[in-house]
Amino acid sequence: MTSLNDLPLRDNLRGLTPYGAPQLHVPVALNVNENTHGIPAAVADDIAAALAVAIRTVNRYPDREFTELRDSLARYLGHGLTRNNIWAANGSNEVLQQVLQAFGGPGRSVLGFAPTYSMYSLLASGTGTRWIAGGRDADFELSPATAVEWVDRVAPDLVFLCSPNNPTGTPLSLETIEAVYNATDGIVVVDEAYAEFGPDGSPSAMSLLPGRERLLVSRTMSKAFAFAGARVGYLAADPAVTDALRLVRLPYHLSALTQAAAVAALAHSPEMLAMVDDIRGQRDRLVSELARLGYTPLRSSSNFVLFGGVEDPRATFEALLALGILVRDIGISGHLRVTAGTEAETTAFLEALEGLGRQ
Ligand code: PMP
Repeated sequence: MTSLNDLPLRDNLRGLTPYGAPQLHVPVALNVNENTHGIPAAVADDIAAALAVAIRTVNRYPDREFTELRDSLARYLGHGLTRNNIWAANGSNEVLQQVLQAFGGPGRSVLGFAPTYSMYSLLASGTGTRWIAGGRDADFELSPATAVEWVDRVAPDLVFLCSPNNPTGTPLSLETIEAVYNATDGIVVVDEAYAEFGPDGSPSAMSLLPGRERLLVSRTMSKAFAFAGARVGYLAADPAVTDALRLVRLPYHLSALTQAAAVAALAHSPEMLAMVDDIRGQRDRLVSELARLGYTPLRSSSNFVLFGGVEDPRATFEALLALGILVRDIGISGHLRVTAGTEAETTAFLEALEGLGRQ
């Protein structure tokens, strides 16, 4: 049988492992920061009705400019944004890939601050962009001074800032984002995939967009909108940025069905986001209960919690899995990450962990 090593693979892909969060069928899946609440039945009915209409014209290519969807997203985001500021693709992973296709590539580099979202380095490899992993401060925070020191040291073409950061859950201050923007002539992406889970009134990098044409703020419908399976991510930026992305996107990259489903869901934003409060409550419960059990959870503005004080993360991961509970071992020594589930799922996780005793 042929193996990967027998193929004339690009040199920079040799030895890499693909994104591989386990997809196991378990009763309690708390490993990929999904929204474990289903979408409300009435909204699902409306989305199904929109899909039933859209399917009748799939003999034609979809609106290449996904105009209605961009209008809906601009309305949802506010901040004075219009459709000209908005771009979307099949998940924010694809948005970020397109950003690297347009602004990265061979001879260019992208700086991120580890530990951070594991796809950044893979998207960099896929687009031939050099990935540079900068460091963080204590408790995985990122101060303006530390971030700027890294930008000055490595002079990247792009900087990826993740706020709140995956896998740590920690938010970034607007001061750090502004300082990074001022320190570089390159593109600065703020990945706000989990923005809706922050405390009420949390500042968004969207508020920094006016006058900053190299600032891109990406979001996703996968998390707060419980739309992970539909694959809809988006970004807000200067209209010139969306023109750059038009150069690299595949024609008709957003299917008519995706567009119809997303527009219908966005028309019900308040209902779609109703479970965000509940999830924030379960997240806060995880933080306080994990501390009570003797672990050291990090502060979190997202729908997951990274906790330290785990003597043998692999053993705890396996012991929980044996009980039907899937969490994430992201390879940070002494730590595991868990997604806030429904109340029942969160209870199942906490009781199982307590039952195992500190490992
Ligand atoms: N950014 C971050 C920080 C994420 O954690 C994820 C998904 N886990 C994504 C982007 C990509 O999400 P999607 O492609 O589903 O929009």
